[in-house]
Amino acid sequence: MRQLAFFWILCALPSLGWAIGLETVRGSVTQDSSRVVLEFSGPPTFSYFDLDNPERLVVDVRNLNPQTAEQIRIANDSRISRVRSSSRDGGTRLVFDLTGDYRTNVFALDPTGGVAARLVVDVIGYVAGEAQVRDVPVTDTPEPPVQKRDIVIAVDPGHGGKDPGASSYGVVEKEVVLEISKRIARRFQNEPGYRAILTRSDDRFIKLSDRPRKAREAGADFFVSIHADSFPKNRNVRGFGVFALSLRGANSELSKWLQNTENAEDLAGGVDLGDVDDDTRQVLLNMSMDSAIRISKQAGEGLLNEFRRVGRVHKKSLGLANFVVLRNPDMPSLLVETGFLSNRSDAERLSNAREQEKIAEAIFRGITGYFERNPPANTYVAWRKQNIGSQVTVEVKRGDSLSLIAARYGLSVQALKEFNGLDSDVIRLGQTLEVPVAPR
Ligand SMILES: [Zn+2]
Repeated sequence: MRQLAFFWILCALPSLGWAIGLETVRGSVTQDSSRVVLEFSGPPTFSYFDLDNPERLVVDVRNLNPQTAEQIRIANDSRISRVRSSSRDGGTRLVFDLTGDYRTNVFALDPTGGVAARLVVDVIGYVAGEAQVRDVPVTDTPEPPVQKRDIVIAVDPGHGGKDPGASSYGVVEKEVVLEISKRIARRFQNEPGYRAILTRSDDRFIKLSDRPRKAREAGADFFVSIHADSFPKNRNVRGFGVFALSLRGANSELSKWLQNTENAEDLAGGVDLGDVDDDTRQVLLNMSMDSAIRISKQAGEGLLNEFRRVGRVHKKSLGLANFVVLRNPDMPSLLVETGFLSNRSDAERLSNAREQEKIAEAIFRGITGYFERNPPANTYVAWRKQNIGSQVTVEVKRGDSLSLIAARYGLSVQALKEFNGLDSDVIRLGQTLEVPVAPR
């Protein structure tokens, strides 16, 4: 027995050099770049370089067991045609065959909160026709753990504390926007696959720059700031308005933003920039800001459509403005003016619980509408979209029960509950349920 044990120790020694194995591979493609994220069982030791004729990116991971990286296949990526792996100097060499002369960047991310150590491979260069972010199916080592995180929405009630915002007819902006924001947050909390955070949940003053910071710290995918307007010069002016950051001036704003080292440090947890010099950082941030603004605009249009259903829209198209809370290169952001307190009917509407609920529902629908079409990778919403052919939304009518609805669509009650993240059999009138429809 002693000899056997000795034999085992000898055998194990060579593999100590391969401290890590490849666990999961994920990919995503936008108009600006392709990103492949490799997740390892431990921190990778790596180096990389580019080769041309033909264009290739070579990444050497010196402590990676090559057997775990044998079958990385990438489909549908316009920049990366394939990935080859081979063993090299006791580690693994990964060769990314590229379809053109793209810029590349490779950086490691430390494990955080249940997420493994990662190596992020960015292949950067504009490709026409990739209008939307899409996930690339990447087949990899057997049975990767499926990640299904929630999409995080940061809801920012404007003003607070010593800053009351606008007020008229006895209605104070900081109070009604807090009530509306809480309703929005609650709506997201009740939706499977989504989670909401509030930048303030009581009457307190928060600096403008601290608002996106809180959102970023919570890992928010989207930031929405809730306000009410006032225009006492013309008390007839009323209705909703939706604003995204103006691209004009965004670059100079960005420079200012970057000069603030606090922001630059913050970004380490937001946009993954890795170890890059200032110029590259600037280029990457510009790209990231373009993309955040593009997403903001798409979601903003959806929000406007929802507002048209529930009331009057003051500004017919999406407003572009330069609000401090919208200057987020790493987070799509919108500012919603829910109405004009200087208008009597708007002031009444905004302080009425039923109307507040309608506003919250419209904002919820606008934002989820965007994410249901474009779910970020590794989210429950993305998983649901990939794994279930399609789905319909069913509103609970009088006389409905879970078992009736389940039977109507040929599902078990349990499946319907799981699909909607329901803990109990109780459903209420007007509630909406998502029902999977088998692909035809
Ligand atoms: Zn305001």
